[in-house]
Amino acid sequence: KQAILDAPFVREMIQNTYDMWRLGWDELNGGNISYLLNEEEVTPYLNKDQVIRTIQLDYPVTELAGKYFIVTGSGKYFRFIKDDPEESLGILRISSDGKVVELLWGLEGNSQPTSELPSHFMSHISRLKQNPDHRVIMHTHTTNLIAMTFTHELDEVNFTRTLWKMCTECLVVFPEGVGILPWMVPGTDIIGEETAKKMKEFRLVIWPHHGIFGAGKSLAEAFGLIETVEKAAQIYMLVSSHQGGIKQDIKDEQLRDLAKRFAVTPPEKYFL
Ligand code: 13P
Ligand code: ZN
Repeated sequence: KQAILDAPFVREMIQNTYDMWRLGWDELNGGNISYLLNEEEVTPYLNKDQVIRTIQLDYPVTELAGKYFIVTGSGKYFRFIKDDPEESLGILRISSDGKVVELLWGLEGNSQPTSELPSHFMSHISRLKQNPDHRVIMHTHTTNLIAMTFTHELDEVNFTRTLWKMCTECLVVFPEGVGILPWMVPGTDIIGEETAKKMKEFRLVIWPHHGIFGAGKSLAEAFGLIETVEKAAQIYMLVSSHQGGIKQDIKDEQLRDLAKRFAVTPPEKYFL
């Protein structure tokens, strides 16, 4: 078998978590990632019959039975994942009845998968129904976006419109807009169910005063979506704290022109 630390998906997890920490998004143990792997990707590195231990789920995920994921561990610091990947990351397979996860590698020292596993798994189920190429759920504590959830109204249409108007290319990057949940206790099945409901319509779901969930076909795509929203939120916080206030902005007509030029079709509800 080849050395698992050389596997591209392990390298990518290390790189992405470190980049997220450097951007100030993942203080302490903030943030978590789950990345759906193909069986063929895992085979060169693992003996798939060797289950290290099983971890009970209190919500069944039959839709994901037999699927492989690499996930971040609970309580792990993104800053240090590169130094102890075997403790911080784990490769899991969902059992055939969808009731337990089988640990195949990592999460050493009896580490547990992220406490947001319900939100991750339920969101994967939603996104796979929308797009069979979907693979990644990423949760992080983007600073400016969190700030914006204090000062901007939490209406999905208005919030999305504001983000779109902060950077010209936002509408092209997330034409479906952003979903927003009410404030909820994290790490629960219920926030998982609510996040997954939003994931039917959106690849980006905001948890007010906490952070964001992003979905993508790759780590790069999920990261890129979140980075784009965070950039727009940063500009919003900059311009709204500026003494002079906003003197001009992007008009609705211009949003329509953008959608046309880049062949995206945002729902009509966003155009007032
Ligand atoms: P975990 O360390 O369990 O992944 O939790 C971090 C977090 O951001 C919870 O929302
Ligand atoms: Zn969090």
